[in-house]
Amino acid sequence: MTEYKKPLPRVTRLSHPFWEAAKRHELMLQKCNGCGHLQYPPYATCPKCLSGSYEWTLVSGKGKVWSWVIFHQLYYPAFRDDLPYNVAVVQLEEGPKITSNIVGTANEDISCDMPVEAVFDDVTEEVSLVRFKRA
Ligand SMILES: [Zn+2]
Repeated sequence: MTEYKKPLPRVTRLSHPFWEAAKRHELMLQKCNGCGHLQYPPYATCPKCLSGSYEWTLVSGKGKVWSWVIFHQLYYPAFRDDLPYNVAVVQLEEGPKITSNIVGTANEDISCDMPVEAVFDDVTEEVSLVRFKRA
């Protein structure tokens, strides 16, 4: 595998299960044991009921484009060959929003409410990034 030069997620104790699931090509979110709220990104306590008890649950990976932008400005040298590239906020069917990229669709064809599903990009042997493609 060639060296990956773009920023990688800083995996923490809290986010570790999310990234382990991504390596298995599964999308998992925190589910509050107090009220059932699903959340992303992970938090130590539930923002709805303040419970500190949660479990990780598999979600569908399906959602829709909630918003997106196209980056034309180079902010980080490793992204030079990607310009212009999209950054999208996908709202999952289960509710939470994930900031990611839309792959396999030309930037000019991305639209709000476009149905998408998660795909997993194994960028290193240790990290798989969650991206989305048109469903
Ligand atoms: Zn809760």
